[in-house]
Amino acid sequence: MLRVTINGQPREFVEGLTILDALRSIGVQVPTACHDDRLKPYGGCRLCAVKVEGAPRPLTACNTPLGDGMAIETHHPEVEALRRTLLRMLAKEYPRQAVRQFPDKEFHRYLHQYGLADELQGAGDPDRVDDSHPYIRVDMSQCISCYRCVRICEEVQGQFVWQVWDRGSATRIVPDSGGAFADSSCVSCGACVDACPTGALEDKTLLTVGVPTDWTRTTCPYCGVGCEMLVGTREDRLVQITPVPDAPVSRGHLCVKGRYAFEFVHAQDRTTQPMVREGGLWREVSWEEAIATAARELRRITARYGPDSVGVLGSARATNEENYLAQKFARVVLDTNNVDSCARVCHAPSAAAMKQMLGTGAATSSFDDIERARTILLCGANATENHPIVGARIKQAALRGARLIVIDPRQIELATYADLHLPLRPGANVPLLNAMACAIVEEGLCDEGFLRRRVDGWDEYRNFIKQYTPERVAPLAGVEAGGIRQAARMYATEQPAICFHGLGMTEHVQGTEGVMCLVNLALLTGNIGRPGTGVNPLRGQNNVQGSAHMGCEPSNLTGFISLAEGRSLFERVWGTPLQTAAGLNLMQMFDAAAAGRLKALWAIGYDVFLTNPNAEATRRAFEQMELVIVQDLFLNETAKAFGTIFLPCTSSFEKDGTFMNSERRVQRVRKAIRPIGNSKPDWEIICTLARAMGREEFFAFRSPEQIWEEIRAVWKAGAGISYARLDEGGLQWPCPAEDHPGTQVLHAERFPIGERAALRRVDYTPTPESPNEEFPFLLMTGRSLYQFNAGTMTRRTKNSLIRPSDVLDVSPGDAGRLGLEEGARVRIYSRHGEATLPVHVSTAVKAGEVFATFHTAEIFLNRVTGSHRDGYTGTPEYKVTAIQVKRA
Ligand code: SF4
Repeated sequence: MLRVTINGQPREFVEGLTILDALRSIGVQVPTACHDDRLKPYGGCRLCAVKVEGAPRPLTACNTPLGDGMAIETHHPEVEALRRTLLRMLAKEYPRQAVRQFPDKEFHRYLHQYGLADELQGAGDPDRVDDSHPYIRVDMSQCISCYRCVRICEEVQGQFVWQVWDRGSATRIVPDSGGAFADSSCVSCGACVDACPTGALEDKTLLTVGVPTDWTRTTCPYCGVGCEMLVGTREDRLVQITPVPDAPVSRGHLCVKGRYAFEFVHAQDRTTQPMVREGGLWREVSWEEAIATAARELRRITARYGPDSVGVLGSARATNEENYLAQKFARVVLDTNNVDSCARVCHAPSAAAMKQMLGTGAATSSFDDIERARTILLCGANATENHPIVGARIKQAALRGARLIVIDPRQIELATYADLHLPLRPGANVPLLNAMACAIVEEGLCDEGFLRRRVDGWDEYRNFIKQYTPERVAPLAGVEAGGIRQAARMYATEQPAICFHGLGMTEHVQGTEGVMCLVNLALLTGNIGRPGTGVNPLRGQNNVQGSAHMGCEPSNLTGFISLAEGRSLFERVWGTPLQTAAGLNLMQMFDAAAAGRLKALWAIGYDVFLTNPNAEATRRAFEQMELVIVQDLFLNETAKAFGTIFLPCTSSFEKDGTFMNSERRVQRVRKAIRPIGNSKPDWEIICTLARAMGREEFFAFRSPEQIWEEIRAVWKAGAGISYARLDEGGLQWPCPAEDHPGTQVLHAERFPIGERAALRRVDYTPTPESPNEEFPFLLMTGRSLYQFNAGTMTRRTKNSLIRPSDVLDVSPGDAGRLGLEEGARVRIYSRHGEATLPVHVSTAVKAGEVFATFHTAEIFLNRVTGSHRDGYTGTPEYKVTAIQVKRA
């Protein structure tokens, strides 16, 4: 311990603090302009200087280590005079109006505190205002050169947009475009705005709507990273979103979707009145009529065709509590296990492979393991676009020296930071990963001790994997054998090594097998069960992990417990018998509908028509249904084309509950505004419909917390997670008791299936779809930073100004051969359908391969994708479709 005197008071502190850390820990405040807890200490503005006995001049508190025996005075007249002088210099020509408009800005508070606000004479300079960005207003007449924007863009986001040009009094901060901010490489994360103490960089909503009057802490409604955010509201309207400084996942950072894409909540076309369709036309009705109609129709259909003629789809954007109720409704009210969620079309293969091989179908580690790992293996995951905060953390780790291996057909952004990029042929994950395993075995790089202690099947596996030599696999996978061997050596020897994978692994006909190969690699090298190791699916939507885990799964109950294993517990807790046979998964529901066996579907928060592959097959199936209940914020494409009843639900900003992120962390969702119009939270709608169906006793919930209490009763691994505990921060399951701290890393001592896990011999079955003369290009589909999934939310925000449309990425060579220039419109044809979209000439894709996103309803890219599926889970092949490209 260090003994220190502060303002005459003796104090004790642990070692390793700066003077500023120590002052703040005891509530003593000194002004700081250049300091930000998210950044390395800088010591540039000198406002935090304090008087330290024996020091020849005041010392900057932010970057001076606290020393034993120091006697510190924080507000000695000498340092106060220095601060006033420094502030006066910083505020020279500072616009007086800005201080009046936003008195609570950090720098403005100091000006008031030191009596300088009324001295200001500056009038601002319109020539220094850049209004080009949709979300951020730049006014460099308010810049005080603290460089927080420059540093946060480098040290947190890793984007290097803001640059310092010129020297001395000519110094200025400019975007890397050298011109308009909108033309820079900015990814609109808003970190610079958040860091700016003055308002030189400002969210435009503050200038147009006004500063928030209330703040609510909640969890982001977009991707599965699970960033926590502060939602600023004014008169029941969302005004501003800022990051939570101490959030464990996002650490004071957000991406463009979390930070700015909230305007959809108040969109003009938000549908907030229930509707029923009659004679092809929608008619607004009361909630009573909508619910009575839905109940009557469900009763009619189940009475006529049986309980398994109905399917329910939970929602990755609804809360855990709501997904729990959706599956309980299917099982208890409708008496069917026909319940699923969009996990089917994304990470069902991860859950299946990891559950089978390790005993838990979820990420084995945590995002904090990114910083603990020496090697990061990124497979089929474009993290900087689809999981931007994780992407930024991986980028920072690589910049700090971690080894990064990227396996991806495209030159994604993180590939440019990687030690090694293996641009494999799409669909070749299994042979490539097997070849890495073969190299590890051949070169004696296995963790023999780990294999002995914790792994079965070693002898059989060793014999099996011999055939997958890198040299044999290289032509098939489209990468050099030397690269495969290098990746294998790096992953096996530069430990601890962690793996993150995305839909480039799972949305293949070999999706489950690909994940099994990743688990094999981890078992061979002992890269599991320790900090900095593990196999981690990056989940796409905010609560896709939760929707499946809460039981929106045809063969698993809440907690991902199989029907056979869990049925008796659920029958006891729910007090009713349950169906024993597994239900239909999402894809099987559409097969059954096409065959005339499934007659009704209730799709909650899920635009299934736009996002399912092979839209024509989906259309034919929908056309056979007699009832399609759509529950959403907007009349989505499914509702427009096939809906018969529309139930308007609320966004996550309008309700309470919990989400579960990719690393098994349960976090609170909190209501920031009242439900818009006549919309209701999903949980209330489900309970009301259950009551109308005569099952009130099973759905007598009055709050999300009551629902959560029932979830804790059936889900042992979550039994220790209470709302009271979640108010202190998120908890990662397993967390079986209220005194359990939660689990960051799984499988440390044993696997849930026992002491040992078994290696799996995974042979390669090629993708049935392949290019030929008629369809010479291979189309991969995916997502972009600015749009989210079906675009239901993001396309109603200014993100659409930044990315207005899906585009087809074509390599420069192919574009040249086809005579296509940037922006040319092309028609693409596959064996399944066609679509028209603009071209983007991109060096990220290889010759013969093209890439497109699927967010734009007018383009409807899933008309082109096909019907091939993963054999274990039914997850569709979205990444390999043979197409023809022609100028439109
Ligand atoms: Fe939201 Fe994901 Fe962006 Fe975080 S990274 S702000 S969770 S969309």
